[in-house]
Amino acid sequence: MSNRSSILIIFTGGTIGMIKKVDSYVPINFNELIKYFPELDNLNYYLEIIGFNPPIDSAEMSPTIWIKIVEIIEKNYTKFDGFVVLHGTDTMAYTASAISFMLQNLNKPVVFTGSQLPIGVHRTDAKENLITSIEIAGSRSFGKANVPEVCIYFENKLMRGNRTHKCSSNEFNAFSSNNYPILAQAGIDINYNQNVISKGALKTLKIHKNIKQNVGVLKLFPGIAKETVSSLLKNDFFDAIILQTYGCGNTIQEKWFIDELVNFNNEGKILINSSQCETGSIVQGRYQTSQILIDLDVISSFDMTFESVITKTMILLGESTNKKIFKKKFLQSFCGEITKIDK
Ligand code: ASP
Repeated sequence: MSNRSSILIIFTGGTIGMIKKVDSYVPINFNELIKYFPELDNLNYYLEIIGFNPPIDSAEMSPTIWIKIVEIIEKNYTKFDGFVVLHGTDTMAYTASAISFMLQNLNKPVVFTGSQLPIGVHRTDAKENLITSIEIAGSRSFGKANVPEVCIYFENKLMRGNRTHKCSSNEFNAFSSNNYPILAQAGIDINYNQNVISKGALKTLKIHKNIKQNVGVLKLFPGIAKETVSSLLKNDFFDAIILQTYGCGNTIQEKWFIDELVNFNNEGKILINSSQCETGSIVQGRYQTSQILIDLDVISSFDMTFESVITKTMILLGESTNKKIFKKKFLQSFCGEITKIDK
């Protein structure tokens, strides 16, 4: 039996699978795409590829498609050593976060990548991103995967998927991992930072597919109107609202605003505090302007990315909308997405 690592590439779409026609980028199908990657034939890996038909711009990503990706991985889990998911950059951090929560007890690499320039453009970043992602997905020591977790590889950096954020729409260096160290840096060699990489689970893979979308986001800004706040907090549809607060979790103190929160809270619904800042953590109570959120038992998201907060919320609501159960699970680290900082 061959010692080569076996990798399944899942091509969902995005710029990596587009070419320029007249003035805009248009998707090409998978058979056309691989013609641009003759290198794949010479790599020392066993590769198989599943392509979405039609490929999609990641602006069209949805929980239904997350489930489709997870089912492909589940079906092929024992057959392959690792998985590479080609995905548009726009919502890659959301999908990587969601998939990390949906694939519990993972012990194989699932590496997301894409590109800022289409494959058909001379200066494309697609080739390096794809080829290095394959190498990372296939990298093993003593028969064990070096990176048994969901991650994003982009522009020489390997990051934990549920810690990433798309920070640039025009630089090759398009993703940041502000609250967690980089898992590996690719130069002449790929240097893995094993101290911060998951050890991989010993239990069998468990899949979460129940996703409940009854979550809203209330982003605060100076001048926000009562009507805007009420349209969310008085709407029966929502089981949970994520408050995007200022700084380390500070909020508006006006009576009408607090009353809205109190009423929502009294219905047993879930309020989560997530910061508008990209670095640092929520610390409720540090300022008087967040004390009310402690009084209302608003759930702190600590240093989680917004992408992780929203996807984890949808997945946990799929299990239970009971606030106590939700809170207990939300504050647990599923796969390294949260660091709790005590005040
Ligand atoms: N709109 C594209 C997408 O996210 C952008 C990209 O792939 O970079 O699918």
